[in-house]
Formats: sequence, structure tokens, C-alpha cells
Amino acid sequence: MSYVPGLAKSSILDCNRFNSMDADSLDPTTRELVKRRKSCMGSSYRLFYKRPLNLVKGEGEYLWDAEGNKYLDAYNNIPSMGHSHPKIVEAVHEQMKKINTHTRYLHENIINYSERLLSLMPKEIDRAMYMCSGSEANDLALRICMAYTGGTGILISQEAYHGNTQLVSAISPSIGGGQKLLDSVRLVPTPDFYRFGDDAEGFTKWYCDEIQKQIDDMKAHGIKLACFIADSIFSSDGVLPYPKGFLKAAVDVVHKNGGLFIGDEVQPGFCRSGDSFWGFLRHGITPDLVTMGKPMANGIPCSGLCGKHEILEAFSEKFPYFNTFAGNPVSMAAAIAVLDVIEKENILEHTKTVGADFLKALKEVQAKHGESVGDARGAGLFIGIEFVKDPESKTPDPELAQLVINKMYEKKILTSNCGPYGNVLKVRPPLVFKSEDIDWFVSALDESLTELNR
Ligand code: PMP
Repeated sequence: MSYVPGLAKSSILDCNRFNSMDADSLDPTTRELVKRRKSCMGSSYRLFYKRPLNLVKGEGEYLWDAEGNKYLDAYNNIPSMGHSHPKIVEAVHEQMKKINTHTRYLHENIINYSERLLSLMPKEIDRAMYMCSGSEANDLALRICMAYTGGTGILISQEAYHGNTQLVSAISPSIGGGQKLLDSVRLVPTPDFYRFGDDAEGFTKWYCDEIQKQIDDMKAHGIKLACFIADSIFSSDGVLPYPKGFLKAAVDVVHKNGGLFIGDEVQPGFCRSGDSFWGFLRHGITPDLVTMGKPMANGIPCSGLCGKHEILEAFSEKFPYFNTFAGNPVSMAAAIAVLDVIEKENILEHTKTVGADFLKALKEVQAKHGESVGDARGAGLFIGIEFVKDPESKTPDPELAQLVINKMYEKKILTSNCGPYGNVLKVRPPLVFKSEDIDWFVSALDESLTELNR
């Protein structure tokens, strides 16, 4: 196993960001917008690309900039049902015309939605709560785990990202920039099956041993285990969906040691992985708590937490919970419309089929450019393409990833990167991605690598 923790604490979130040094090369309109934005907004905001994009319209998986250029969106997973989906727009508009209140009054939308959401969960998970962001959902999930177990120990993946509150940023090493983690946090190595070699059983044992080692280290320091939190597609760790089931074995180890498992479904939830509605189901897991967000209401701020009632009660006995905007009738109308679209447009089956075709086509690109494309892997429409300096040593090539991202941008395709080394092209389009989009993407990737002589 050649994983070297911390080799390239890449701060993946800003790998391909706009650098204000480039401002002089911009066209006058973009330069003016960048200048105005900089003079009125907090300086920790980042922009993608050397020529930042001013997007003014979206439809399905396509986007248009202010000059009328059309882009293929292969990056955004929030508008999973497609940008500006008419049924979701209509649902929000109709509810907004009637009333928008909060969870201290009765309203049918939140109850209807909760019943439908829970019908999609394993039967043990029987209660739902609502927030406005994935960060808030994970923040509450951690507080609940600590209340239920009386512990503070939290296991996370080496390159995890779970959000931006004080508590969850302290369990999110991929933020980089010297982000301090909680003293009670222990890191589990990135589950890098590509570098481990093709031995699912050996890999699963290695991963379980690593989990146990970290739990033992907590014990040695007088820390009681509260939970393991993981995103089952390991998106910020570099898109690592295989081998199926390894995560179930790890969760069993956590349970044996008295800890809980939080399935962070912010990325893999709502059909993304193609095999099942939730990412944890791919691994055969029943989490204790499930958190979700991003695609839940196709862009209207809405997130959620589902769990076993006895676990939620350990928290609610002591603390009331209120979140001003969360679960309001308009957000819930959007979330209901998302479930309607998933059913009516057969999104799960579509994701599975198109995702499999897409990966097959990308493996052909890998075969053609095998000196630099080390791996193409994915589940459904969450795909990672790993660039290496040579396929034998598997030495990561983050510079090539950046060059490809910018070449693809020139060809009007939006992507990004991820992983401990920042060398994995992250491909995660709206789920309405079509066969003809595969052709556009694959020929652009092939051309980009040829133009770069790779
Ligand atoms: N969990 C995961 C796995 C995420 O990818 C993200 C966002 N990238 C979050 C939590 C936080 O969600 P939000 O930005 O909505 O707070």
C-alpha cells in the first residue's frame, strides 16, 4: 500500500480557482464583475477557472453564460433533476403564492414529505428532521451521537469533507489551510483500492484493522467512541466506490465497539450512485443516522437527518430543536417535487444505465491514454478519472488534472478535481445526463489528452 498521508495536502477546494493576478487578461465585462465582487464580498470566497464564469441560464444538464455560450455541466450535483426543472419551479411558485411558514405550525407538506422519505429508508430508520445545509445536518448528527453514546470520539476519513460550521469543519481535513481538527477525532486512511491492488478481501481486512487501530488509540487516550461518519462514495477522498461492501465490514467494527455510524448522503444520496436510492445501500449498511442535502430540493436550501427514534430521543429529551427556515412549506414543496421527478422520470434506472455507458466509454479513453490515465472508476453518475505520471508507480499527477480541467473548460465542459493529491477528475453531472452528452464529454477528454501529448 503506497498511500502517503498528507503527501499533498492539496486544499482540493481551491485547486483550479481564479487567481486575482489573472484579472488583467479578462474581457472588460468579466473584469468589472470580478472587481465589484471583490470590493463587496468577504475575501474567503473563491471562483473557479482563470476566466471566471458568469452563468445566466440553465436547462437540464446545460448552462449558458452571459455571452450565450452553451456548456455541458458535468460537475453540479445540486440540480440533480436538471437545472430549472419545470415541475420543481412550478411547485415552488405555487407554494410561495399560498404560504411559507415554519415548523412551529402544522403544515401537510412536511408530514407528507417525511412519510415518503422514510418509506425510502431501511425500516429501522423511522424519524426525520430538517435543516438548510449539509453542514447543519452533520453538525446536529454529531451532537446526537455524542448525547446518545456519552462519547466524543469521532472517526473520519483521511480527506473527509463534512461541512463548514465550527464543529464539522473540525472533522473536515480536506479544507486544508491548516484547519484544526478536534482532539477527539481520529483519521482512517483513504480507502484507495486502486493503489492497494485487486484483492477485495485483503482490502476489507486492512480497512477494518485501520478502524480498530484508531478506536484503540482513542481508548488509550481516554476518549470514548461516539461515531464514525463517512460519505460512502468517498468523494473528497477521490471517488472510491469499490469494493462494494467493504464499508459494511467497517461499520460492524464500529458497532462492536459501541459507536454509531452516520451515513453522510450529501453526495451519494438521491440516486447518484445508480445502484440504489442511497449510497449506503450499495454497501449493505443500515446507518444509525443518515444526513442529506445538496440535491434534496434541486437547489432550494433544504437538508435533512433521518434516524432511529431511540437515538434521536437521547438528544431531544434534553434539547428542543428549531431551525428558522428548515422544513418550511416551500422547501418541502420542492423536495416533494424532486421525489415526483425521480419516480416519473425513472431517474434511478436512467442513472444506472447512462452511468454504466459513460464509464465504459471512459475506460476506452483510459486504454488509449494509458500512460497518464491510471484509473476510471465510478458508481452511477459519480465518476473519478485518476491521472498518474506512469501507470506502474501510480504516482499522482495533479498538474495534468488541472491542465485537463482547463482544456475541458475551453471545450465548454465543466468538471473539477478531488482526492488527497488533487489528481482525480471529478465527474458528477445532473442525473438527466444523456447518451449524446457522453459523446461530447468523451471526445473532448480524448482531444484534451491528445493536445496535451498524454
Ligand atoms: N458532506 C459532504 C459529503 C459534502 O460533500 C458537503 C458539501 N460539499 C457537505 C457535507 C456540506 O454540505 P453544505 O455545503 O450544504 O453545508
